[in-house]
Amino acid sequence: MLKKQKIYIETYGCQMNVCDSGKVVHLFANLGYQPTSDSRTADLIVINTCSVREKPELKLFSALGRYIPLKRQRPELVIAVGGCVAQQWGRKLLERCPGLDIVFGTHQLDHLPRLVAEVRGSQKALSVTDFLARPGGLEVMASPAPATVSAMVTIMQGCDNFCSYCIVPHVRGREYSRPGSAIVEEVRRLAESGVKEVMLLGQNVNSYGLKASGEISFAELLGQVNEISGIERIRFTTSHPKDMSYELILAFATLPKLCPSLHLPLQAGSDAVLKRMGRGYTAASYLEKVEKLRQVVPDIALTTDIIVGFPGESEADFQQTLTMLEEVGYDQIYSFKYSTRPGTRAADYDDIISDEEKRERLARCQARQNEISQALLRAQVGKIAEVLVSGSSKRGEGEWSGRTPESRIVNFPAPVLTSGKIAAGDLYQVKIVEAFKHSLKGEVVADAGS
Ligand code: SF4
Repeated sequence: MLKKQKIYIETYGCQMNVCDSGKVVHLFANLGYQPTSDSRTADLIVINTCSVREKPELKLFSALGRYIPLKRQRPELVIAVGGCVAQQWGRKLLERCPGLDIVFGTHQLDHLPRLVAEVRGSQKALSVTDFLARPGGLEVMASPAPATVSAMVTIMQGCDNFCSYCIVPHVRGREYSRPGSAIVEEVRRLAESGVKEVMLLGQNVNSYGLKASGEISFAELLGQVNEISGIERIRFTTSHPKDMSYELILAFATLPKLCPSLHLPLQAGSDAVLKRMGRGYTAASYLEKVEKLRQVVPDIALTTDIIVGFPGESEADFQQTLTMLEEVGYDQIYSFKYSTRPGTRAADYDDIISDEEKRERLARCQARQNEISQALLRAQVGKIAEVLVSGSSKRGEGEWSGRTPESRIVNFPAPVLTSGKIAAGDLYQVKIVEAFKHSLKGEVVADAGS
């Protein structure tokens, strides 16, 4: 009997990359490959990279430093690098890293099995990074593992916004929306396989369909997904504040499965900084959208991205970011020091903020947000929340874990059930009894159907 080939995959960066890695696993599973968590036993190593920030790019070179020497013991091993760094570096990555076999760009994911076969046949390294009008990888399904409760579905790729600091339009290409019918069909198949929650993904989901003639809008797409039986919860990311339509805001009120939680990247609270970032909104217009959202869904949980130390950011500018944290009251923020991405407009900006200053601002920003997040979590104590069980809690000890519709993590002891055992995918009404730094503790009151 032929020995099964093994694939080891390492993923950096955002949820879209995680989703893309699931697609790679699916493509190779169709060819008989088994995933492995041990790179030393793999026949194929795929590294799916991100270049939005500096660190993941450095991580790639360190990973290649570990994996390429494995070829001494396993000459048949093929190593491939995909994602944003691959797109940006192309053939230069092969030159910098002898022993690397394949560089495949962000529009080439579905071609990877062919590239692996070609490299095995010719023993010659390959780099393929062309942008395509319709990236075929978007139509590959990322098959969830058995008993998966949540699944990610990419609905669009690329971005036309060209924010001055962002590498995404350069490495993911121009905006392309998948046909709505294909997305709905994919979600239907996921629901049939037991998935309860879908996360619709795109660099800017709010502009989904706008540039594809005859395509439905994002709010209409959400409406169609809401009709799919078996799906209990719908989430999406990422939204650009300037493209957040009133139609979409209203969808939060009219679609019962659409969760009251939204990631709305702010980046900075100062209009001068936002202008240099090329974001296309002001602090006031952002707050106006937040207010409209809260008129429709008063308890909506908001999260955001913050960049501190953008070129030219003064202390007064930074203070406006802190003010926005207070005014919006985010559940959580993802905050980073600005790092220059070569090839972006901001790479040519002067008035650079020192690393020390950036570090100090980041610490202040996170400390302020921690207080806000803590207060919001503490305010949940005593409330009853519907929790979708994702699995046993990281702490073990018979505890289970799940999320509220607002995406807050709740851990709770297994309830005594007359109807059988608790399982991932179950929905329970849980009373919140304690708040921790990043999570809540609860006690099951009833299952959601009772
Ligand atoms: S909207 Fe701006 S930050 Fe977001 S992906 Fe597009 S260019 Fe990058």
